Amino acid sequence: MLFLILASFVPVTGNAPDLDHGPAPQSEDYASGIPVVTYHQISLYQSAYSATPARLRSDLQDLYDAGFFLILPTDLEDGLSRIPFDRRPIMITFDDGWEDNFRYIENAAGEQYIDPDCAVAIVNTFLEEHPDFGPGVVFFISWDKVPFGVQTEEKLNMLLDMGHFIGNHSADHLAFTKIPPSRYWEQIIPALNSFHRRLGLRTSQINVVAYPGGRIPRGVNAEDVLASMEYHGRPAVTQGYLVDGAVGSFKRFYEGNEFRISRIDMALYSVPRLLNWSNIMIESEARPSLHDDLPWRPIQSD
Ligand SMILES: [Zn+2]
Repeated sequence: MLFLILASFVPVTGNAPDLDHGPAPQSEDYASGIPVVTYHQISLYQSAYSATPARLRSDLQDLYDAGFFLILPTDLEDGLSRIPFDRRPIMITFDDGWEDNFRYIENAAGEQYIDPDCAVAIVNTFLEEHPDFGPGVVFFISWDKVPFGVQTEEKLNMLLDMGHFIGNHSADHLAFTKIPPSRYWEQIIPALNSFHRRLGLRTSQINVVAYPGGRIPRGVNAEDVLASMEYHGRPAVTQGYLVDGAVGSFKRFYEGNEFRISRIDMALYSVPRLLNWSNIMIESEARPSLHDDLPWRPIQSD
């Protein structure tokens, strides 16, 4: 059964065109798949969910060199109209709101600055050096801990100022396969209230959800429940993101799968493997509780 479910995803085959350093590719070089990759912690501490700062930097470089252009959830709604014709879309996401995604450190004079090895600094530095890579990345925030450790309100507003996108990753980080759809609102609406206390009117921009655990069940009208949920008179959820190791196609998104957008966990995949997409699909049952043993780590003091 699971195989049949995964088989409905459309894997993409073929290598990326050699852009930026050569002629624009022919149209047949393009595949319709839109990879959405996800990272969790960006840390020198190795864990099942972490990538090192060096790994994130090299991934960004490799994706840029392979001809990708960063998109945000709004680009899916806009028909990818912002994507240059000779580039292919990719979305980069960071889950949970770990402190190593956005951290301040102090210099000897006691002045605070953004840790150059935290996720947002690595991304921002790369975007400054490669302004044609696209506008930004997505941070999915859960409220089971203090997002980004400290200074949450300032950091959330700064992310939006920088051009990044913020998504909802629930109030308590409970796996959405372990609660009935009738209770999804208990995870989505309180999280929006938490955003609203920090972002005010800017909360209206937060309307996509990454499901804790990476999945939602089938056959129980989960999508209908999500589509009907409102917050301050607007849809609370317009897109939902899985972690299933697949690459969904643009066509698939428009065929009514906006609540089942595939994502790839970059703790399990490498960019070179991404570029050979034909066998990228994995059995997501292998990780039934995606974050269950994910510990909260305080700021590193080295
Ligand atoms: Zn998570």
